[in-house]
Amino acid sequence: MADGTESQIIETPEERRRRFLLEFERPFKCEKCDERFKKKKYLREHKAEVHSY
Ligand SMILES: [Zn+2]
Repeated sequence: MADGTESQIIETPEERRRRFLLEFERPFKCEKCDERFKKKKYLREHKAEVHSY
């Protein structure tokens, strides 16, 4: 299992905090590419642009 995913298992408290803040700041996540947005409007625009087809 040496596929370089070890860094995902070990998560420092600082990384946890950063991810929490990111999710708190940008609660609207695109379910197609996991990108995050501050506003629902941005997510809608992103979807229309990137995943329109
Ligand atoms: Zn997307």
